[in-house]
Formats: sequence, structure tokens, C-alpha cells
Amino acid sequence: MEDTVWMEPDTLQGVKEILAQGDPEIRVVSGGTALSLIMKQGMFDPKKMISLKKVKNELSFIRHDEEQNIRIGSMTTLREIEIDPLMKAEQPVITEALAHVANPRIRYVASLGGNLAHGDAHLDLPPILMALGAKIKVESSKGDRWLELHDFFQGYYETAMESDEILTEVLIPKKIEGLRGTYFKYTTLSNDDWPTVGVAVFLKTVEGIVADVRIVISAATDKPTQLPEVEQCVRNKSLNEETIMEAAQKAYEVVEPLEDLRGSVWYKKEMVKVHIKRALEQLKTES
Ligand SMILES: Cc1cc2nc3c(=O)[nH]c(=O)nc-3n(C[C@H](O)[C@H](O)[C@H](O)COP(=O)(O)OP(=O)(O)OC[C@H]3O[C@@H](n4cnc5c(N)ncnc54)[C@H](O)[C@@H]3O)c2cc1C
Repeated sequence: MEDTVWMEPDTLQGVKEILAQGDPEIRVVSGGTALSLIMKQGMFDPKKMISLKKVKNELSFIRHDEEQNIRIGSMTTLREIEIDPLMKAEQPVITEALAHVANPRIRYVASLGGNLAHGDAHLDLPPILMALGAKIKVESSKGDRWLELHDFFQGYYETAMESDEILTEVLIPKKIEGLRGTYFKYTTLSNDDWPTVGVAVFLKTVEGIVADVRIVISAATDKPTQLPEVEQCVRNKSLNEETIMEAAQKAYEVVEPLEDLRGSVWYKKEMVKVHIKRALEQLKTES
């Protein structure tokens, strides 16, 4: 068996130069938690790997920019985000969700960049970040570009990144005063398993009327998916039993789930309905 070539450039520029060679056998490694799993399962046998270990300092940060957006470097680990005071103060839904992602051992090494670049629909952060309107920066030797999360996720394990690009940063827009949210992770196997259904709901009410609402689901579908038809059921209305039921029923009708070992199409439709209802009820109670 051929040995895997392991490369450890010590600058981001060095990583981009290797990727610019356009070798289809090359794969970037951040924490390696997702990659090692698919390698163990025999689904992937990389010939060349570029470790980002030596560029961790360049790509590891959580800070405000001048517009008060939160910027997170792609090599920041899930654990670093989970315990970050700025994140806890401004986006506690992320802090709380991370406490239930995998287990501490994985969170200490898994990176935000790897989490998103993996393109797996069964992850907990993507629906929350999408509901918050997050953007992703990808870089290559040709330059950089920013992508909305909606455009970044293209399908099952598919993203809009080109093979010579590396994900370097995530931007969460400035906190909107009054926008409240929740994330429901529903699992059918162990408690810390990948979700069967993930539901992120953020909304803002003004004098009892829903002025802003974002509803995103994951795990049930092939990629994190915002549900505008469901949002429409509560937007500019009061959150009450009737509007909440209408939204939950609409979700049941419009979501087209993928069957997998965590649930059938019918079951996932039901679980999306149940958890959108619960998320809206929770936000109603807190208002
Ligand atoms: C047992 C187990 C349980 C888990 N449970 C959950 C869960 O409940 N919820 C959840 O959300 N997640 C869960 N995860 C997933 C975990 O969050 C991901 O494995 C992790 O986030 C991936 O990050 P990583 O840094 O290890 O990525 P890696 O394994 O290093 O990389 C993953 C993919 O992204 C690419 N990549 C990595 N970094 C970059 C970059 N900067 N630019 C471009 N491409 C890049 C790699 O080439 C690879 O294709 C679980 C994982 C394990 C192993």
C-alpha cells in the first residue's frame, strides 16, 4: 500500500501554494475528526494531506471587527468557541448547542472550518449560523471571496468551495437588539450523536408582533435549509397557539427529508413539525 504524503506548511500562503498545484489527490486536514472517521470506514483513502496544524495561530481567533460583527478563524476549535466569553454574551445559542456536540475529546480538536467544510447535513452549528446570517471567507492563491452560508452548502457533503480554496474565516453579523433564538437537537441514538433533526429558530417581536424571523432546519434534509414558507406563517403576526400550529403544519408540508439510519421520511417530517412547534413555543414563553 502506498504511504500517504503528509505536508505541514508553516504559513497560510504556503498552504495556498500547494493547493494551487491543482492536485486532485490532496486534502486539507484541520482537527482530523471527520476525516479519520471516513478513512477508518474505508470511504476515503487520501494520497496527500496538508495539515493546518502549523498555521493554527494565524487561523485561530474570536473577535469583534470594527462593525461589531464576530469574526472566527477557521482553526478555532469547537471547545474554544464553546467557552469564549464574547460568544456566550452575544450568541449563547451557539455556546449551548456546542455543549451537546459529540464529546469533549472531539470538541477539543475539531475546528469550525472542518465542521463547515465537511458539508455534512447532520451538524449542529450550520443551521444556527445560517439563521444568524453568517458568511464564510474562502481563500486561494487567486484571492479571497465571501460566501453566504445559503450558497456555501450545495448538497449532501457538497460545498461551493473549489479544490484550490481553503476556508479561513466565519463572520457572524453584529448582534441584532431583541433577536432571540433557540436550537433544538433531536437525536434518536445516543444523546451526543449527530442529530436526526436540528431546528434553529431566531425571532424578534415588537409590541407582541413578530418583526423578524429565521427558521432553519438540518439533518432531516440534504443540507441546512431555511424555510421561508414557514417563517411567513408567523411574520407580522402575534405568536399564539394558532400561528405556531400553522407554522408547524406548513413545515410538515414543505420539508422533503432524506431517509437515513436515524429516521424514515415520515418520521423526520413529524419530528420537524414537533420541534418547530416546541422552538416557537419556547420563544413565545420567553417573550
Ligand atoms: C464521534 C463523533 C461524533 C460527532 N458528533 C457530532 C454532533 O453531534 N454534532 C456535530 O455537529 N458534529 C459532530 N461531529 C462532527 C464534528 O463536529 C466534525 O467531525 C468536526 O467538526 C470536523 O472538524 P475537523 O477540524 O476535525 O475537520 P477535519 O476532519 O480535519 O476535516 C473535515 C473536512 O473538511 C475539510 N477541511 C478541514 N478544514 C478545512 C479548511 N480550513 N478549509 C477547507 N477544507 C477544510 C477536510 O479536507 C475534510 O474534508 C462528530 C464527530 C465525531 C468523530
